[in-house]
Formats: sequence, structure tokens, C-alpha cells
Amino acid sequence: MPQRHRGSATSRSVWGGSLSFTSCTRCKRLIPLGTGTRCPGCKPKRVHTLSASRRGYTSEYRRNRAVVLADAPACTLCRRRPATTADHIVPLSKGGTNQLSNLRPACGPCNYGRGNRGYHR
Ligand SMILES: [Zn+2]
Ligand SMILES: [Zn+2]
Repeated sequence: MPQRHRGSATSRSVWGGSLSFTSCTRCKRLIPLGTGTRCPGCKPKRVHTLSASRRGYTSEYRRNRAVVLADAPACTLCRRRPATTADHIVPLSKGGTNQLSNLRPACGPCNYGRGNRGYHR
């Protein structure tokens, strides 16, 4: 391997000075220590994929759910259990929104058991 001159005149201070290096766990290229285990080219894309908000459960939904639950504490579907969730009248997967007009209070069993076809399969 080529030797690295300390403070060389031809300063190609790409990573600036006395950094240690490790090798990318994938392609074995040298990368500065402390930037992870992979080079920028091998870094995994954001591991943030199917978050709740990605599926449509936005802060708007959470806010409106609280409003819906405060307003009508009983499940509108079975009318027996207390509502703990806000059911989408028109499912998000079918173009529904998180607005109050599209939400109704529902208990967990009713909401999740209703078979929102499209969600779970
Ligand atoms: Zn790599
Ligand atoms: Zn219910």
C-alpha cells in the first residue's frame, strides 16, 4: 500500500488530516472512521420506509382521532365497546382522507376486524 505522508505538500485533504479509516463492510473501500460501516455508495437507503405516516396515519389523523374520540366515546359500529380508534369511513387505500368527516369512532376489534381489504394483504 502507498505510504501516507504526514502533512504532505500535495495536500489532497479530502477528509482533512489525521482521520482513521475503516473499510466498507460491503465493497471494502476505505471510508473515514466514524461515518458508519459502509461507504456512501453502499449506505442503505433510509430505513424509514413503511412508517405510520407513510401509510396515511399522519399527525392530522392523530389530531382528528383525538377529537373524534373525545366527542363520541362509544364505538359507532357495535355500540357496545368504547371507541379507541378512529375508523376511516372511506379507507385511505380507497382515497379517503384523515379529515373529521371521514372518521368515526370505533373500537379496535371493529376497526381492525372490518376487513379493510387492501391494508393487510
Ligand atoms: Zn461500499
Ligand atoms: Zn365496536
